[in-house]
Amino acid sequence: MPMSFFPTTGMLRSQGAEQSSWHERAANGISSEFGRNVFIRGVVEISNFCRENCSYCGMRRDNRTLDRLRAELDVLAELLLQHRPAAITDINIQAGEDPVAVREVALPLVKLLRRETSLGVSVCLGTLSSGLYGQLRAAGADIYILKFEIANPTSYAAMQAPGAHAERLAHIRLLADTGWHVSSGFIAGLPGQNDSDLLENFHLAQRLPLDGCSVSPFIPGEETPLRGTCTGDIELTLNCMAALRLMRPDWVIPAVSALNLADATEGYRRGLRTGANLVTINLTPSALRDNYLIYKRDRFIMTEERILSAIEAEGLIPSVQGLVSFYSSRRARKLPRSVAEPAAA
Ligand code: SF4
Repeated sequence: MPMSFFPTTGMLRSQGAEQSSWHERAANGISSEFGRNVFIRGVVEISNFCRENCSYCGMRRDNRTLDRLRAELDVLAELLLQHRPAAITDINIQAGEDPVAVREVALPLVKLLRRETSLGVSVCLGTLSSGLYGQLRAAGADIYILKFEIANPTSYAAMQAPGAHAERLAHIRLLADTGWHVSSGFIAGLPGQNDSDLLENFHLAQRLPLDGCSVSPFIPGEETPLRGTCTGDIELTLNCMAALRLMRPDWVIPAVSALNLADATEGYRRGLRTGANLVTINLTPSALRDNYLIYKRDRFIMTEERILSAIEAEGLIPSVQGLVSFYSSRRARKLPRSVAEPAAA
């Protein structure tokens, strides 16, 4: 895979006409495999319990003000089987790091989706045991989202990011080695993050066995130790997204909903203009959604209507092919013919 582009600090800090030119290059640099297609997935957040204590997240275990909840399987089943938006091709099941929710909610939900629908299934459930990864995979999940968050190990520890830095990276590699399609991500604009830290995120992303990567603007959560600090610069975040796209035309890069917290007027649409090709409709039942406090209580919820109108306004097209289906067909194309297409008996 060609990786001739690597961002400079100048590119990441660019503004005005220079910045527009980078974004245009990124939007045009997307792999021909994707064309104008944007993948649309739904997300259900199934638990806001978390055993971790990340300084940048309102769901951290030290936040005693939060009502902790796990979703009920029956409610999710009815929602996803009977009432999901038609545009969705994939479902992402997300939670704080809560192995109980993995066993009691995520696993049966993955099995149900596999049995009753043709939806692709991704999970974002934190660092788990290899046994639980295996059970999720056997149940029918194909994509694991495990963000490295911060490439610099010292900053990672200072921000109390999940577990240990080396362990996080080892889990990303383990997941890829055991057949998962892995997507990761990092935060732009964290307090104390300097240009060298930023570039380190790109070096690390480039070295990891990923199929996709996200950039999230730092949002200072009200119930975190970082409340009162500055929101990550939307321009920096968008420049990082454009840089990722130029570095890896073949990656799936999401436009995250937090873009609209950093720029309420059109952060999300500007994300699509930097070459993002995945959007997410939030389907979480309202009781849990209100307490799923990664950033703030006044979350910006991406509905089907908002997503479809943003895609249309940017001249893009909702992908008919799902994300898992896309990854699977791409993997099959890359395999030697004898492996991808066993000879008929
Ligand atoms: S970022 Fe994830 S692991 Fe860290 S506290 Fe929040 S939910 Fe838990």
